[in-house]
Amino acid sequence: MTNIELFKKLLQFKSITPDDDGAFDFITQYLSNQWNCIELDFEDVKNRFYYKKFNNSKQHLCFAGHIDVVPAGEGWDTNPFDPIQKDGIITARGAQDMKSGVAAFLYACKNITQFDGMLSILLTSDEEGDAINGTVRVLEYLQKQNMLPDFAVVAEPTCEEIFGDAIKVGRRGSINGYLTLQGKQGHAAYPQKAINPIEQISTILPQISGKNLDDGDQYFAPSKLVITDIRSGMQVTNVTPDKLELMFNVRNSTKTSQKDIQILINKLFKDLDYSFKMTQGSYPFMTNQDSKIVRNITKSIVKNLNIQPQYSTAGGTSDARFFGQYKIDTVEFGVINDTIHSINERTTIDEVEKLTEIFIDLIQEF
Ligand SMILES: [Zn+2]
Repeated sequence: MTNIELFKKLLQFKSITPDDDGAFDFITQYLSNQWNCIELDFEDVKNRFYYKKFNNSKQHLCFAGHIDVVPAGEGWDTNPFDPIQKDGIITARGAQDMKSGVAAFLYACKNITQFDGMLSILLTSDEEGDAINGTVRVLEYLQKQNMLPDFAVVAEPTCEEIFGDAIKVGRRGSINGYLTLQGKQGHAAYPQKAINPIEQISTILPQISGKNLDDGDQYFAPSKLVITDIRSGMQVTNVTPDKLELMFNVRNSTKTSQKDIQILINKLFKDLDYSFKMTQGSYPFMTNQDSKIVRNITKSIVKNLNIQPQYSTAGGTSDARFFGQYKIDTVEFGVINDTIHSINERTTIDEVEKLTEIFIDLIQEF
């Protein structure tokens, strides 16, 4: 089976989160009993961890990805689960996000004969959903078994304009803030008898709205405090409100934490009657560019494509963040990302061929 045949086969599974639609049985068979398989199923989510030791070297490199896709939606020109190849382009749900990446590393891992250490493959059917029973649970298990990888490649689509132009070496985190300012309701004609939280917030707002909490660096944009909601009042002109509620979000780099935000809020609101809480949807991570995985994948990209990739941390979240939390040196590299989650999702045969070559080169040279 060629890598393109494998890619098309994966695209035929209607693996809408969290259903794998038989994809994992197929993959287990594809890898054959040369690979050990650990099945880690939680509730309706299936996960598979495959591994193979090539020699006694301690180094462990993991390829990771998700087999699940988002629903197809209406308006496709072709059947989204019947991959159509035309003029070097394959159209199907998951073509970019991310069965191209999964096909490339499965093919590379199966066909490689030598590696210095242990290779593994972590697959989940819960990335596009809540992502609470997927990669995060597998890594929890691997930590208990003392089997966490040293390095990981998550094959999400990362390239922007041309194939090879970007790898992700980190991701921003996401912090949500919820603040309630307590006042005292009153008549608009007697403001001295009331405490108006709108007046109170008005001098503070310029100090938080759109504020950069750090300066960013070459990899991260500044962590900006973005106010997403403010509400107060009763939509009348003669009553001042008794409270005001404000929400914000910060896409944070590794330079800004919840603690920094707490200190800022404490300082600005210290004389007021307020309550405040935060939740963190995901934590930021950053793999140093001197890490072996960053150096080696860059080398493989340059060698195969003659392009110097940019190191980026842009975009939303991916499962790479869970690897980052375990201090595993992680990069993301995959095909161009310009039709993910949209109708007529598509990628080129050329990109999948070259991605496969790059993964083979990476494994051989590691
Ligand atoms: Zn994805």
